[in-house]
Amino acid sequence: MMQQYIDQLNEAQRAPVLQKDGAMIVIAGAGSGKTRVLTMRIAYLMSQGVDAFNILALTFTNKAAREMKNRIASIVGNNEAKNLWMGTFHSVFAKILRIESEKLGYPSNFTIYDTQDSVRLIGQIIKEMQLDKDVYKPKQVLGRISSYKNSLITVKAYFNNPELQEADAMSKKPRLGEIYQNYVERCFKSGAMDFDDLLLKTNELLNRFPDVLAKYQDRFRYILVDEYQDTNHSQYLIVRALSDRFQNICVVGDDAQSIYAFRGANINNILNFQKDYDEVKMFRLEQNYRSTRNIVEAANNIIDKNKTKLEKVVWTDNDEGPKIKVHRSLTDSEEGRFVASTIFEQKMQNQLPNGHFAVLYRTNAQSRSIEDALRKRDIPYRIYGGLSFYQRKEIKDVLAYLRLVINPKDEEALVRVINYPARGIGNSTVEKLTVAANHYKRSIFEVMEHIDKIDLKLNAGTKTKLNDFVTMIKSFQVINENQDAFYLTDHVTKKTGLVQELKKDGTPEGIARIENIEELLNGIKDFTEGQKEIDGARGALSEFLEDVALATDLDKDTGDEDRVALMTIHLAKGLEFPHVFVVGMEEDLFPSAMSLNTRSELEEERRLFYVALTRAEHQAYLTYAQSRYRWGKLVDSEPSRFIEEIDDKFLDYLNPETTSSYRYKPMMDVDIFGDIDKSKLRLAKPVNSKPPAYLNTEANNKPNIRKLKPVSGIKTQANNLFDTNLAVGNVVMHERFGKGEVINLEGIGGDRKAEIKFDVGGVKKLLLKFAKLDVI
Ligand code: ATP
Ligand code: MG
Repeated sequence: MMQQYIDQLNEAQRAPVLQKDGAMIVIAGAGSGKTRVLTMRIAYLMSQGVDAFNILALTFTNKAAREMKNRIASIVGNNEAKNLWMGTFHSVFAKILRIESEKLGYPSNFTIYDTQDSVRLIGQIIKEMQLDKDVYKPKQVLGRISSYKNSLITVKAYFNNPELQEADAMSKKPRLGEIYQNYVERCFKSGAMDFDDLLLKTNELLNRFPDVLAKYQDRFRYILVDEYQDTNHSQYLIVRALSDRFQNICVVGDDAQSIYAFRGANINNILNFQKDYDEVKMFRLEQNYRSTRNIVEAANNIIDKNKTKLEKVVWTDNDEGPKIKVHRSLTDSEEGRFVASTIFEQKMQNQLPNGHFAVLYRTNAQSRSIEDALRKRDIPYRIYGGLSFYQRKEIKDVLAYLRLVINPKDEEALVRVINYPARGIGNSTVEKLTVAANHYKRSIFEVMEHIDKIDLKLNAGTKTKLNDFVTMIKSFQVINENQDAFYLTDHVTKKTGLVQELKKDGTPEGIARIENIEELLNGIKDFTEGQKEIDGARGALSEFLEDVALATDLDKDTGDEDRVALMTIHLAKGLEFPHVFVVGMEEDLFPSAMSLNTRSELEEERRLFYVALTRAEHQAYLTYAQSRYRWGKLVDSEPSRFIEEIDDKFLDYLNPETTSSYRYKPMMDVDIFGDIDKSKLRLAKPVNSKPPAYLNTEANNKPNIRKLKPVSGIKTQANNLFDTNLAVGNVVMHERFGKGEVINLEGIGGDRKAEIKFDVGGVKKLLLKFAKLDVI
């Protein structure tokens, strides 16, 4: 039985599988079967009589562990596989800590604090210590404490180390040690461990209690670790301690895919492995089974640019496959439309399921334009490792204000934001309002409107605050009657203090939230621009909210598992998909602007790109936009250097001229620089007076993509095309209104309008300079 599976491995893979005992390390490039080797090795060990209880496998995600276990179950049987210990470091050691917690003085039902809990507690401590929370930013403080914990620097160790204390004093946080101490004490008193404690306390347990260590060493006679390149020091020490007695340890990894250095992952764990055990066997796998030859060779081409790496060979026997397609679009929303329409076409042409497609991005905020475009095409998708864009807290907060503008009776929205950002309306006041609203059978908002006439035993100050809130919402309503949705939303985020609140934060998470709000504004801008196509219409807020409400409806799990996968590249590690889009291939986004300071940071970004590209089995797409909306303004962006780093022979530049959405793209009449802080921008190079290179059909050579700009001239081009192409009787596709027939054309140049009878929604008159139409 087992033999048939062994036969499916190549010789290089078979060696570490059949080497039953000893310490071994498999270093190999992406897609070469490292994970498969681990899986087979476990099945093989079991077939050789090793008890499942004696095997521990540590994976990068619990999902990966589940998949591995299912695979093993299909080989050795479910009952046997059930007893394997498999999972992430955190989940496996949380289980062990529950068993042993009393030794460390914790109850076995200890709570695990998530990041939010930890941040809140630290904030509370900072307040109690009367420290300036602009200096001691809770999230930053947590980050510091986290790195101490992952380096096994306990509070005691901290206070025994003058250097650390000096370093914190130098960074204006002389009392960081005290916060650390208070935080640890408070967690302990609450019977709680944070994420880092799960590793730190495991180390403490194994160090302080030799009998416990012996017990688990005896239990886990065979240890296997996937994605070893991304283990941090704390994890490394646990593995080393547990494997010390039997030394049956097998780790697999790829230094080229080390992408968590920013969280303390330590590449030395790979380099030092050979020193840690008496005898170490090193295996290398070279054949990639996942991807086409084009993808494999392009990926090699990329990683070659890194100076710090272990030399490896990766080749494949697979077909050459199609070239990597590179797509340029004018804006991020057009990028989204390209992704959605390509998926749509591929699905139709080749009868492919949604699950064959993945869209990978550098930052979570980028999912918005992709989500919007997929939704419009009715393509189901799932966001991994993050909330759907419209479900994120900061987005829900903004939307709650907007919902109140439309319908002040909306109680969920009101309760959500009545005191966010904090404006001194406490829970007890809200409770009183709710009771009164129920009594009078009115909404809370109506009660608030009449607060001066109702006796709720509220003091004058509170009444003023409630009145102010009502006035604010009403002022938004007036704006909504006179301005478009973008203007209103922009105003709301500023006037309510939402953005200021997040700006104060200053941590990467805070910045990410601001970026998300920025993305929401971009989406609304796009929406209002779209509305302008309709003669005389403003970008109505209620319509936008309806769109969003549908978005969240579609996000609900229907039990239909076949969805396009959307996730950050970090999360995609270890996964594979036939078609992969890597979007936002732009300087300052990928590579991230934050990583351009040192070579090692840039090399980590390049490894991230290597990971992204090597997820693709058959077709990879790299897309970039020449401009992105940032705070509702179009900001210029340059294509990522990573595209240029790939040899031309692997790339297929999609000719923008043949992309219909590109031709008909409206010219955005937006001041690119406006009041943006110019120092943060790369200034556009002077617009070339010659026709843009991509309009030159002769130019089959690689265009100098980094010199191309969003070009004026496309407008006339588009209108000319329209003047000559569009005719009464044409059937067109509009991205929001769907299919329709042109029944009349009037006006010339920028005023040219088409009257279109849509299958759903009736006749609409559209200004062609704005209309996003495809003739079908
Ligand atoms: P990554 O570095 O991305 O984690 P990996 O080295 O872990 O990749 P796997 O995921 O184990 O690679 O394998 C990549 C793909 O190749 C999988 O679909 C796997 O089933 C397939 N594969 C691996 N080895 C073989 C083989 N000998 N024959 C056929 N297919 C194989
Ligand atoms: Mg793998």
